[in-house]
Amino acid sequence: MSNKPGIQEFDAPGLGSLWHTEERAALLNAVRKLSYGAVRTAAEELDHQEAEIPDELIGKLADLGLFGIMIAKEYGGLGLGVFEYCLASEELARSWMSVGSIIARGQGLGTQVKDQETHNKLMQRSAEGDWIGAIALSEPQAGSDLASVETEAVREGKNWILTGEKKWCGNALSADFIQVLARTKGEDDELVALLVRKERGVFPKGVTGTSIDKIGYHGIISWNLTFDHVVVSADDELTSFYAPAENEEPHTSGGAFHAVQHGLNIARVQTAARAVGLARAAVEDTTVYLQTRHQFGHPIGDFQALRFELATMAAEVEQARAFYRQVAHDLDAGESVERETGMVKLLASEMAVRVTNQAMQLHGGNGYSRDYSVERYWRDARLTTIFEGTSEIQRRTISNRILPRSPLE
Ligand SMILES: Cc1cc2nc3c(=O)[nH]c(=O)nc-3n(C[C@H](O)[C@H](O)[C@H](O)COP(=O)(O)OP(=O)(O)OC[C@H]3O[C@@H](n4cnc5c(N)ncnc54)[C@H](O)[C@@H]3O)c2cc1C
Repeated sequence: MSNKPGIQEFDAPGLGSLWHTEERAALLNAVRKLSYGAVRTAAEELDHQEAEIPDELIGKLADLGLFGIMIAKEYGGLGLGVFEYCLASEELARSWMSVGSIIARGQGLGTQVKDQETHNKLMQRSAEGDWIGAIALSEPQAGSDLASVETEAVREGKNWILTGEKKWCGNALSADFIQVLARTKGEDDELVALLVRKERGVFPKGVTGTSIDKIGYHGIISWNLTFDHVVVSADDELTSFYAPAENEEPHTSGGAFHAVQHGLNIARVQTAARAVGLARAAVEDTTVYLQTRHQFGHPIGDFQALRFELATMAAEVEQARAFYRQVAHDLDAGESVERETGMVKLLASEMAVRVTNQAMQLHGGNGYSRDYSVERYWRDARLTTIFEGTSEIQRRTISNRILPRSPLE
């Protein structure tokens, strides 16, 4: 029999007077209901099996419009911003971080082709959750230093020929497309973003993959991929690696690296929101545990040492939430927030590692068992300081905007 606390309504955070709108409150409530219901049930059943997020759950996310939160209404999206995207991401990550991540594979990703008609169709599919992608940036020798990617794109007539190795590509097999960052060879030596179309559940011709045996972040399988002379139509060269913000001009060909940077700003604040979701889960489960576990004739929540620890954890979560909401708002307002997205990603992810670690401590031996969910929160939180730019890279981004650039770089 499981010792886990039952799924119950916690005193979950609201929007606060500063951020409240009817639309946001409705979105928050709908996503929360799904999160504490189907998402949490799926996580508890499937994470230990290292299985992928089931299609049925993907369908439920799509029904709520969560793949198109940031897509304009004219394409069938919700027409909302980074703020609402982060709000939904925190809610989903509270129950399973991978589900908070999978919605990032819609949002207009893989739609920025030059042909307007094709672009419009792909945007509609993205909003519907029928155009869910995988992102292939990292390589065996290029992680933090993405400018050094070596996967080659060679132009042959009307096609690009793609050859090289990618590492860590999440959702590659189940995706509708893989968006690949590659280097052109020849006179120009620049980075291009190419759209490799595929069917869900199979790799396209010339692509082979091996799954990576990782310790957490289950629900999304991560792949090492080999591209062997994969033919990509020149029409599928993307003008931007990510969908541009509504107030932004699309990036032109050759500017793919800058577009990656823009997309990473959104990804970083969304990662902060996911980290807050995980840490909040740890606080909520610990709140229940302190009241149900008895030692020395008392609920352990009567002991001041543990009460104070929980208080610190809860305060840290609130602080990180306030910060990510502010940065998301500023991103939506079109402000230049590269420093702040680095800061919020750094602080929220480091906070999530601390808080989930402490939640495990407060669960005692049970925290180290798979009968409770805190071990999953801890494993998943550990990733948030590594992906979407490590903590060190965030510190680099921040310090480069405070000090003159170091001659060592
Ligand atoms: C579970 C998981 C899922 C992922 N999903 C994807 C995905 O879907 N698509 C994708 O493209 N990538 C993905 N990644 C890759 C991820 O983005 C990289 O792991 C990350 O950017 C770090 O790169 P690296 O692992 O090569 O580490 P490295 O860059 O080799 O870094 C090693 C260490 O050196 C430090 N370091 C490096 N450069 C500097 C510097 N200049 N100053 C100070 N310290 C430095 C780093 O912070 C780190 O501590 C995923 C990774 C994981 C673990």
